[in-house]
Amino acid sequence: MFINTHTHTQLYDAKIELVNLNIGAPDKPNYYSYGIHPRYITKETFKSQLEELNIVVHEKRCLAIGECGLDKLCNVDIALQQEVFIEQIKIANKVKKPLIIHCVKAFNELINCLNLNDNKVPVIIHGFNNNENIARILVSQGMYFSFGKALLGYESNAAKAIKNVGRKNFFLETDDADISIKYIYKKATELLGIDEDTIRLQLQSNFENVFNFKLT
Ligand SMILES: [Zn+2]
Repeated sequence: MFINTHTHTQLYDAKIELVNLNIGAPDKPNYYSYGIHPRYITKETFKSQLEELNIVVHEKRCLAIGECGLDKLCNVDIALQQEVFIEQIKIANKVKKPLIIHCVKAFNELINCLNLNDNKVPVIIHGFNNNENIARILVSQGMYFSFGKALLGYESNAAKAIKNVGRKNFFLETDDADISIKYIYKKATELLGIDEDTIRLQLQSNFENVFNFKLT
């Protein structure tokens, strides 16, 4: 059983594919995350988008809020990004569903937003490919990691981090890459030096715990 924790299109090669939807997406797959990506925030639309998010998060098949977060390389004003992120932290805590995070060069601000708003839900940093120091800080904050195509790069940050973050703290994803999640699993087994059955069982149990979801 394969689980893809974050993808933008259904690839039909995993038991669970958590498809990330933007606000207003017309068709909904079996399981999805729903949220406002920092890059797509505008002053004119964010309030109505938050209203819609507030409704959709109650749907059973909506397993997480996201991807949301902070991105210092995009053109959206960082203060506005923080305002919208904080609203999404509040929504996630109200419905007790995890946050799937997009974070670029803003980990300090990210941690502050979460802690100052008394976040209690699991936080999953998606597409993690940052250095050891950042990984260590995020681990100390009890965060989870989702690794994707960066694992395939030779001695990438992600390939190092997966060995250090702890078996209970990670997930695997394809994000927007046109590859099978099976390939990411295979690479992860090599990096961790464990067999496929072990990693599948571990990721099933991680998924059940963090997403409060019973796999059958
Ligand atoms: Zn994504």
